[in-house]
Amino acid sequence: MEFNLKNTFISELPGDLDLSNSRRQVHKACYSFVNPAKIKSPELIHYSKEVADFLGLYESDCQSQQFLQIFSGNEIIKNSKPFAMCYGGHQFGHWAGQLGDGRAINIAEIDSKGKRWSLQLKGAGETPYSRSADGLAVLRSSIREHLCSEAMFHLGVPTTRSLSLSLTGNKVLRDVLYDGNPEYEKGAVVCRVAPSFIRFGSFEIFASKKDNFTLKKLTNYTIKHFYPGIEQGTKRGYIEFFQKVSECTLEMIIHWQRVGFVHGVMNTDNMSILGLTIDYGPYGWLEGYDKQWTPNTTDIQHKRYQFGEQGNIALWNLVKLANALYPLIEEAEPLEEIISEFKKQYSARYLKMMKSKLGLEMEDKNDLNMINQLEQNLELTETDMTIFFRGLGNLSKNLVFSEKDDLSFLDSVRNAFYKIEEVNGEILGFWKDWIAQYVKRLQKEAFSDVERKQKMNLVNPKYVLRNYMAQIAIEAADEGDYNVIEELHDILKDPYGEQMENQKWFEKRPEWARTKVGCSMLSCSS
Ligand code: AMP
Ligand code: MG
Repeated sequence: MEFNLKNTFISELPGDLDLSNSRRQVHKACYSFVNPAKIKSPELIHYSKEVADFLGLYESDCQSQQFLQIFSGNEIIKNSKPFAMCYGGHQFGHWAGQLGDGRAINIAEIDSKGKRWSLQLKGAGETPYSRSADGLAVLRSSIREHLCSEAMFHLGVPTTRSLSLSLTGNKVLRDVLYDGNPEYEKGAVVCRVAPSFIRFGSFEIFASKKDNFTLKKLTNYTIKHFYPGIEQGTKRGYIEFFQKVSECTLEMIIHWQRVGFVHGVMNTDNMSILGLTIDYGPYGWLEGYDKQWTPNTTDIQHKRYQFGEQGNIALWNLVKLANALYPLIEEAEPLEEIISEFKKQYSARYLKMMKSKLGLEMEDKNDLNMINQLEQNLELTETDMTIFFRGLGNLSKNLVFSEKDDLSFLDSVRNAFYKIEEVNGEILGFWKDWIAQYVKRLQKEAFSDVERKQKMNLVNPKYVLRNYMAQIAIEAADEGDYNVIEELHDILKDPYGEQMENQKWFEKRPEWARTKVGCSMLSCSS
């Protein structure tokens, strides 16, 4: 197994002079060298063939002992110098100071097929940034990251990828509910892959220390390697850089809203400078449509990171990034303009995205109103988001309402309702109004029902990683059965396809999963 190492991050940016693995505050450095911890008995659970392929790895490589040893952290890639990145961040609205890779270690930066990739092990032991924690990850959260990052990629959502999932053979102590009852769980390591893992917080840490020298170095580095069209080393370039980050962040959030993904911990240290979904922790998928939903029990009181707020939070985070970049620009106005443009663009892009979910292309001034009404209706009774939008593609624009006061007009989406009997009285009226309005609106469009369905099926997924699906995979894996991981990984490669043989995963959440820890509730203790 040969890698074409690049090492630009460590050769072009200042590193920590202290080479020990002691927990500390690190200054004037973008990273600290640290090796993954040696482990007893690694075992490869699963790897992604697609990721292996773009990294230039053959199947025989992935099945080798060396692969297992390298991607569980036991062996270091020849000539590579692993490191943990230094960053800070605003957590839940407050400046938290230095955070850094407390349980992630970059094991290599490589060139493969003309593209550059950073390979990072998550859960491979402590680093100078581990603070009071152990640097480890448990099997359940590693399965969730491995499956979800690949599912997101195939949904068309910008994301970090996941090459492999391995057991370490060590036990890790975790208090899942933070109620003083910690238990030992299986430890695991994921190898995640992205062009870079630089975050908003990577810039904030230097701005917070008034270390403009390192701030500038990191910004120039980021522009040079990841935003190559931008002028280097000038104020104009830094402004354009902020604008581009703002645009790709917007793009990512619109995708999250389209597929019903709730990140759960949108702290600035979890915001990628490349607009990639990063740091899969207590994330979740909307089942019943609910703008206020968050899967993160740590955030249950304020619901800062609820589904419907993700656009505003991204904006809040961008303001923090703008503040961090300000010393390089020294002018507030251009940054403010970009921020207000984000607000405008968010509304416009959100409308366009929702129209695509409804199969609408023409302009109609009432569309926004109709979408608002739909969102209100969806919240009146528990209604599965994914099944609803997928089903709506089957509605005929020639629908005729029957004389009888029955529910047949909802046939195409009926399966999305948890309790269809709750659709009565006033609620039934709201739905009748909405469907009548929608059908009339569809008649204005030029395309046929069949054409519309085809278009809608490209934006409304049939298969997403429902919270309970990951939980089933986790429980099986805990017993040593990895077939569900394999099965879900495969299905989620084609989320927009019909896959009739996998219909059982196109179902509402079963009742047992409603309140189960891991399904509807997750904490940061992963
Ligand atoms: P998160 O919000 O989960 O991305 O993590 C916030 C910060 O805590 C980051 O600096 C992580 O590296 C660190 N962290 C989270 N879990 C651990 C752990 N088990 N050991 C060390 N550091 C951790
Ligand atoms: Mg993080």
